[in-house]
Amino acid sequence: MFSDMRSQDVQELHFFNQGEFRAVVALHNLHLGPALGGCRFIEYPSESHAITDAIRLAKGMSYKAALAKVPQGGGKSVIMKPSGPFDREKLFKWFGQCIESLGGRYITAMDSGTTVEDMDNIRSQTLYVSSTSAMGDPSPSTAQGMLLGIETALQFKMNAHLQDKVVAIQGLGHVGWALAKMVHEQGARLIVADIDANKTQQAKQQFNATVVASDEIYSQACDVFSPCGLGAILNPHTVAQLQCAIVAGCANNQLADESVGDLLHAKDILYAPDYVINSGGLIYASSQYRGLNDQQISHEIHKLKDTLLKIFVLSHSKNQACHLIANQMAEQILYGSPEQLMEAV
Ligand code: NAD
Repeated sequence: MFSDMRSQDVQELHFFNQGEFRAVVALHNLHLGPALGGCRFIEYPSESHAITDAIRLAKGMSYKAALAKVPQGGGKSVIMKPSGPFDREKLFKWFGQCIESLGGRYITAMDSGTTVEDMDNIRSQTLYVSSTSAMGDPSPSTAQGMLLGIETALQFKMNAHLQDKVVAIQGLGHVGWALAKMVHEQGARLIVADIDANKTQQAKQQFNATVVASDEIYSQACDVFSPCGLGAILNPHTVAQLQCAIVAGCANNQLADESVGDLLHAKDILYAPDYVINSGGLIYASSQYRGLNDQQISHEIHKLKDTLLKIFVLSHSKNQACHLIANQMAEQILYGSPEQLMEAV
């Protein structure tokens, strides 16, 4: 476990256990402020899978916060979903007490498998929570940032807008559906895949989308491929199938490993680093928590266009993959000298 922590530079791991409830909170780096990151509530095949997930996701949140220019550190929590029946309200109230015990070093929010109602139950026990029903779901802001990022990538790569472009979306969940609606309204043609046939049928009816099977989405000829389902879906096998100019999706940790980013670069596919283009939700959650108004939040989300453009320009001029440029920029902020920090922001 310590070797995992060292390899990802995670500073703290907290374990909580009561009855059938088990949770892990990973804190990666608190250099910029208290850690803010979602609470994932899914079934894990083993405890070590849950711990590894928390560690990897916490690191991503530090990098995301650094490039999104929000005053937060990186952290993430996972609650292992019990396999049998359980009292959901009791579980999230218990988890609220776990967060309270960390004294404000970690602020939680919604993530895969959690809802605003869960956040409200946490809120009954601690103030260190965002995306409650009073604050709202961050997904629409993630989708807003995604749209801005896709427009930026299209302009950089093809000097084009979304009108008449083909966008292939994998996963029509909270973010993927909102994104599909927006790109359809901008005049793009959609190709969609989801394991939930109801969602793809609705996309066919409402957006005139072409529906393909989950494993066929990679080989579709399109301008933008947008992974909005699961992480780690980009690997040598799937990248070999891609027939797109741009990869720009919201799923966290899309690259199965770092070398896959190099494969995309070698194939001349412009990759919008996941933790930059999907940072609208974090910006929203952090801004809501700090009491910013809607106009200020939208202004903050628009800034991700500049960050992405900087990454694309540096990638082109240095002939280095976009994910490496993004990592370097984030690491300058997280670990660099004050001079490097000033240069990077
Ligand atoms: P979600 O659970 O609402 O949606 C995921 C969708 O992907 C579902 O419709 C699911 O059926 C589909 N899916 C799952 N496996 C699939 C497969 N193999 N092929 C095709 N479709 C598949 O999640 P979400 O909130 O929309 O988030 C999507 C991703 O973006 C996640 O990885 C999440 O961590 C990340 N993310 C979300 C936010 C946010 O604000 N919600 C912010 C940043 C990152």
